[in-house]
Amino acid sequence: MALINEHFLKLPNNYLFADIAKKVNAFKATHAKADIISLGIGDVTQPLCPAVIETLHKATDEMAQQATFRGYGPEQGYDFLREAILKNDFLPRGIHLDISEIFINDGAKSDTGNIQELVRWDNSIAVGDPIYPVYIDSNVMIGRAGVQEGGRWSNVIYMPCTAENNFIPQIPDRRVDIIYLCYPNNPTGTVISKEELRKWVSYALKNDALIFYDAAYEAYIQNDSVPHSIYEIRGARKCAIEFHSYSKTAGFTGIRCGYTIVPKEVTASTLKGERIPLNHLWNRRQCTKFNGTSYLSQRAAEAIYTPEGKKQVKATIDFYMKNAHEMKRALTSLGLKVYGGEHAPYLWVKTPHETPSWQFFEEMLYGAHVVCTPGVGFGPSGEGYIRLTAFGQQEKTQEALHRIENWLSR
Ligand SMILES: *Cc1c(COP(=O)(O)O)cnc(C)c1O
Repeated sequence: MALINEHFLKLPNNYLFADIAKKVNAFKATHAKADIISLGIGDVTQPLCPAVIETLHKATDEMAQQATFRGYGPEQGYDFLREAILKNDFLPRGIHLDISEIFINDGAKSDTGNIQELVRWDNSIAVGDPIYPVYIDSNVMIGRAGVQEGGRWSNVIYMPCTAENNFIPQIPDRRVDIIYLCYPNNPTGTVISKEELRKWVSYALKNDALIFYDAAYEAYIQNDSVPHSIYEIRGARKCAIEFHSYSKTAGFTGIRCGYTIVPKEVTASTLKGERIPLNHLWNRRQCTKFNGTSYLSQRAAEAIYTPEGKKQVKATIDFYMKNAHEMKRALTSLGLKVYGGEHAPYLWVKTPHETPSWQFFEEMLYGAHVVCTPGVGFGPSGEGYIRLTAFGQQEKTQEALHRIENWLSR
């Protein structure tokens, strides 16, 4: 008899976006003619840029010829892309990485979920709250998160990120083994300053902790006073692993490509106290469980580092950020407290009069026919907030803002 991994059974079945879809469908059943605008789901809408499309066509043609056909590539990714990453994403910021510290992935979700395999099941973990659900759920599956009680996992240290602390968690008052941070943040759209990030690196070094740093929205940062990478902080290469993704940067949610940085100096201990480099373990793990990101995806990613590619990718990000600024301006002028949206495509809005997230979601759906994401779906500290995304079409976003305006001033 095969026994299952019962940790999976602890995961609640209801998935946030499925719950939202259910409520939207219930609304549609009684309002057949209503034209609903979604500012809810965090997927991009703009097509791939011309530089990427051109490269994809070219790479496809290479696959059609015996002489240029490619089969399995290196598990760590092709050097042409790893070199482009070194040269464009890190060297200009004074960060010197070795090519062997870069692992090309098929999007950051896989690696942010898988990285926890490298450490024992009984390490303690701390997460910012609200949070991208992958970090906790991947720890639940291996039994590290404990059991769920009242919307919280018993072995997870929740670090509240609210307006009161400017969405920067407080440094834990005890030792923690592993810390997940995500900046610019999904869902709150807020950022961390170098000064604040320095405190985290120094905590990790002092306490021999690891930081798993998700930089999926780094490309949305509008000026260099905000850190694009944790390695801008001295000492981070001894304690941090960083995740990048081309999904939000260049509309790769369907293409699938990103990368993970595992510096050679990052180590963790055996029970006997021997220090083991995680770069070596991750490489071993990837060679066993991952057979590389597709050649086409990697060529497509390389194309965004060409001068045309850079310009085109920036134009799309500017397009989304224009939405974000419009949204922030309009919602603020309605008297709402709006956070984020300056270095990220997300706005985090405080519901008026302490209205619970799900109640506000329904009121806005029925009152304005606009869909948002209830903040509490991202963690207990998200209660009393909603998330809006700037990934929509411009006209639809404008229309949604008009409707919210009419609804709130009724
Ligand atoms: C979208 C997103 C990712 C990246 O997902 P991909 O697998 O690269 O598409 C990673 N982290 C966060 C917080 C995200 O919102």
